[in-house]
Order: sequence, then C-alpha cells, then structure tokens
Amino acid sequence: MLSRSLRIVSQRRLLSTTRILANKAPQTTTEVKTAQDLAEVTGPASLIGPGAKPGTIPTDWDQSTGLQRLELLGKREGVDVFDMEMPITEGKGTMDDPFLVPTYIGYRYVGCKGTAELDHKPYWMKVEEGKPSRCWHCGTVLKTKYLGEPGMAH
Ligand SMILES: [Zn+2]
Repeated sequence: MLSRSLRIVSQRRLLSTTRILANKAPQTTTEVKTAQDLAEVTGPASLIGPGAKPGTIPTDWDQSTGLQRLELLGKREGVDVFDMEMPITEGKGTMDDPFLVPTYIGYRYVGCKGTAELDHKPYWMKVEEGKPSRCWHCGTVLKTKYLGEPGMAH
C-alpha cells in the first residue's frame, strides 16, 4: 500500500513539471510588435513607437513609449485608460447600494466632496476590498470593484 501511494505522488510531480516547460516554450519564440490599438497591447514591450523617418520631426505617435503611449492609444479610441475623469459610474452611495470604486490593486484613494444636497471639503478615504468605506461628513458609502486578475490584489 505504501509503495503504491508513493508512486502516485512522483507521477504527479512529473506531470506538473512538463506543464511548466510547455507553458514556457511559446514565450521565447513570440516576437513582440508595436501595438496599433489598445487590443494589441500585450505588455511593456508592445508600447514602443515605430520611430520617425529620417529628416522629419517625431510626433508623440512615433516616439512615445510605456504608460504615455498606453494613454495615447486610449485617447485615439476615446478610452480613458487611467480612469481620471469619473471613475465611479455605479451605485447610489447608500448602505444598500454603495458607489462601486474600480480598482486594479485591491484599494483606491477616493476624495468625497459631498452630495447634491450637502457639499463639503474633499475628504480622502482609502477604499479597501472587503470593507465598505463611509464618508463621515455626508455618509456616502463606497465599496471596491476589483477589475484586476483574480487573486492578484495585495
Ligand atoms: Zn462625503
């Protein structure tokens, strides 16, 4: 009985090792291209511009990289990638129906400036996953809405 269960364990280990090797293989052969739109962004390496032709002044589109290029790609498509304008679009701010704060990292700082009936100086709160936050000036309730990869918060 004992030797049989040992054999099963070692077989499992072999299987998972092959799976890791199989997953690694494609990454080394894939060539990264410059993303032409948001859907083609695969990582930082796809956010490098094509460069300007000799004798011309480079535009942002030619030479911007990284987060700047990501924002530029978004602007061309009318997408606010950094969620700067109005991140909260869901909820009513009540205990039963809190405002949902989109987050990719499990928390987000939010400044509450009050409601239509009662406005106040900005009150900053750290809205964290798992516990609703309440503004103690006006009573507005906020909750996180996690948009990142499952299990990657914290
Ligand atoms: Zn408030």
